[in-house]
Amino acid sequence: MKRHIVRVGLYCLVALALAGALRFTPPLPEPDRKAAEVLVAQAATPTWKLRFDTLGRGESLQALLRRGGLTDGEVASAIKAATSLDARRIPAGMPVAIKTAATDSLPSEVTLQLSIDRLLHLRRSGDSWAGTDEQLPWTTDTIVVSGTIASNLYDAMDASAKGDLPAAARQQLAWSLADVYEYRVDMSRDLQVGDEFKVVAERSVAPTGAVRMGKVIAATFKLSGSIIDAVRFASESVSGQYFDQTGKSMRAAFLRAPLEFRRISSVFGGREHPILGGWRLHKGTDYAASTGTPVRAIGDGVVSRAGWGSGYGNLLEIHHRNGYVTRYGHLSRFASGVHVGSHVAIGQTVAYVGSTGLATGPHLHFEVLIGGQQRDPRVALKQSGGEPLPKTDRSAFEQLRDRLLASIETPSLGVVRLALH
Ligand SMILES: [Zn+2]
Repeated sequence: MKRHIVRVGLYCLVALALAGALRFTPPLPEPDRKAAEVLVAQAATPTWKLRFDTLGRGESLQALLRRGGLTDGEVASAIKAATSLDARRIPAGMPVAIKTAATDSLPSEVTLQLSIDRLLHLRRSGDSWAGTDEQLPWTTDTIVVSGTIASNLYDAMDASAKGDLPAAARQQLAWSLADVYEYRVDMSRDLQVGDEFKVVAERSVAPTGAVRMGKVIAATFKLSGSIIDAVRFASESVSGQYFDQTGKSMRAAFLRAPLEFRRISSVFGGREHPILGGWRLHKGTDYAASTGTPVRAIGDGVVSRAGWGSGYGNLLEIHHRNGYVTRYGHLSRFASGVHVGSHVAIGQTVAYVGSTGLATGPHLHFEVLIGGQQRDPRVALKQSGGEPLPKTDRSAFEQLRDRLLASIETPSLGVVRLALH
């Protein structure tokens, strides 16, 4: 972690140095390229002294500026010029570059990196200071990440994107992919060794090297031989939703899992909990998650039980349409307003994970019952698709689907850039 912070810090300083080298040159006459080149070259010569610093924990900006060579009077005037700066919100560790002419004892420019893509330049002219904000541009492109499941989705994402995406971006992409498929696939339970995925997503890269993942545009998942494609589609009647290859909504009457994929302890990945066991042992599915993790109703319904259920501990039971009943056990508590008779909506937080009743540790015990019998959720909740697209959108959707799916046909693993925006 510490090394990571150091590296990010270095990126910031390099970016700042670059921004500095470009920005610390005096304003140029617009068309005169030759003059510009000379001035840039001069900036790299020892005409200027460039000092990099960072704001210490609990340190004031005033103290930092004094350390950089500004007198008390100038500190006051420079801070007055920093109108866009909220002095109470300056983060400790903020990188600062201070530029002084070799022939001068007083700095002529101070650049503060307010965030990964925002700089504030304070420039001196005589004894007065002026502030200018600068927004550094992010580069956005579209990438395809392809992977094969060896143990779980996180490991597969790491194996194929490690060199190209930082850890946080890989995790974000795994979560987004799980969200797209949350009505069809329980990413913590349904994946098998050899399953394959491809995901087309937007990526933004900051000048500092920071990466932010954007929308998933399309994806394809090969699960035990069957393929589920998902394409994001928007029109006058549809607002950016996902549809499968047949044009049916990726949404359905039930979510495949009562916990969001991002909330499930990744330690256990897609494997069975070593102590709690699989479905056959006790006719339920256990999800390892920490106490207090929100539990969501997997479908619309009415609460039929919310209280103590001996071995189940705090137990919530919901009646859904078509004779489906779901049970959620070992809860630490119920969400406010959830009691017998309450109507709950799909995805609504209804309770929180705990370890009440006969539980060896915090986890959620989940059951699906049909006609009073526990069923394997992998079978009971298997869904082939939601509402089809309106007829008027079909041809536009099919064109988009064919174009996107063709663009990711190539079997190469890893990260491939598809387009630069
Ligand atoms: Zn259980």
